[in-house]
Amino acid sequence: MDDVEEMYNEIIMEHSMNSYNKKKLDKADFEEMGHNPNCGDEISIEVKMNGDVIEDMAFSGHGCAISQASTSVMIDTLKGKTVEEAKDIIKTFIGMIKREIKDDKELEKLDEAIAFKNVSNMPARVKCALLAWHTMEDMIKKNNK
Ligand code: ZN
Repeated sequence: MDDVEEMYNEIIMEHSMNSYNKKKLDKADFEEMGHNPNCGDEISIEVKMNGDVIEDMAFSGHGCAISQASTSVMIDTLKGKTVEEAKDIIKTFIGMIKREIKDDKELEKLDEAIAFKNVSNMPARVKCALLAWHTMEDMIKKNNK
């Protein structure tokens, strides 16, 4: 394992063990549930908006380490972003996992979420890594007219 891979694994471990994003928001504007029957992952994501900006996010649920860490990292990455920025980041993350986007410059906007890059080599884990991001994508589609 090289240094970069090790760093990626540490980020994933860190987030799957420390659940500081796993809580309930006092006042959520939106909530969306996501379910991955292949693995049994279930999450619920809450979002609080301030105008066009994602002011706060949190999640609850259970599942494998990859699904839970991916949700937590996504929250760190999208918090403070506008909806338009969030859509772009979500698209980039999905593109990275599906190996459609490989350009490092383009992946920079993912911040820590780039740690999931190697999940694209683990077909059984792809749905786990994408669950939160697809759930967030659905929430934006439903509520963003
Ligand atoms: Zn899973």
